[in-house]
Amino acid sequence: MRKRFTLQEYKIGVLSGDRTKLSQAITLAESSLESDLALASDLVQEILPHTGKSIRIGITGVPGVGKSTFIESFGQMLVDSGKSVAVLAVDPSSQKSKGSILGDKTRMEKLAGNKRAFIRPSPTGSTLGGVSSKTREAMLLCEAAGFDVILIETVGVGQSETAVKSMVDFFLLLMLAGAGDELQGIKKGIMEMADGVVIHKSDGDNLANAKRAKSSYENALHLFPLGDNKWSAPVLIASSLTKDGLSNTWEMIQKYKDQTQRSGFWESNRAKQRLSWLDENLQFLLGKFFLDHPQVKKMLTKNRTRVENGELSPLSLARDLITTFFQSNQNHK
Ligand code: GDP
Repeated sequence: MRKRFTLQEYKIGVLSGDRTKLSQAITLAESSLESDLALASDLVQEILPHTGKSIRIGITGVPGVGKSTFIESFGQMLVDSGKSVAVLAVDPSSQKSKGSILGDKTRMEKLAGNKRAFIRPSPTGSTLGGVSSKTREAMLLCEAAGFDVILIETVGVGQSETAVKSMVDFFLLLMLAGAGDELQGIKKGIMEMADGVVIHKSDGDNLANAKRAKSSYENALHLFPLGDNKWSAPVLIASSLTKDGLSNTWEMIQKYKDQTQRSGFWESNRAKQRLSWLDENLQFLLGKFFLDHPQVKKMLTKNRTRVENGELSPLSLARDLITTFFQSNQNHK
């Protein structure tokens, strides 16, 4: 059985940067047990004044673009320069594939072995909302533990990008140079979300293609109107094998931080993100509370096949479930 600690024990452990306690606190936050949720929310409230100092970076790109390798090399560069780095993940597919990203720590062996780095595999959860809310809590716990940089990896499949974008300061898109058709097949929405694009694996024979791709991407990005951050996403080329372009990537992020801190966007964006975290929690907790209700559960199990067979309208069952939920709560008063 998992050992539980008191609120004070978790708090002291996390604030002192104790890795084991930090891991245990994240496990607590990821738990779906009601008693764990209560303790975890008290813990997050307690450590809140100690959060906010890290730089939060989201990293996305299609499978195979080299996200893990990039995080390993980029993270290594940061720890070598004296920074501490925490790596988290939002992976909605992890339910099915049992942790497809970051699940296998050997992919970041060198970084994982560094005492200034902390790598946490993706939490499993039934909904993206649940998973991303847990990742936010894990992020705050890592911040309270004193990490300078938080890297959040997400696989480029659509919805999860939006979730990560809503919890980071800087959203980095990794791309590959194709043979002239690199702009095809890229979701416009994801390009629009990016604060910076890195054409990855720009080494060896890929280098010439990467340079060509750079101007295509620059042209495409210039067509997007400037957002509230008044920042036009730069396009860089980098390789995690040769390490070329990694320090430029860090400089780009620093420049973004300076510019948006001066304009006030940095803080207003974080304020907006805190509100979207509230909305996410409301949706997640309401759903959980509702679906865990014994009578709702029973009625739902009983009638699912009738909806499946087309005998019962989904709307009608949904409304009946809600009525049952409220009536039984009323009866308990
Ligand atoms: P992910 O699925 O996006 O996490 O991708 P991985 O990090 O697992 O990398 C996929 C493949 O690309 C692996 O075989 C890596 O060795 C290779 N790779 C990663 N980074 C680079 C790079 O900078 N240059 C080259 N040439 N190959 C790379």
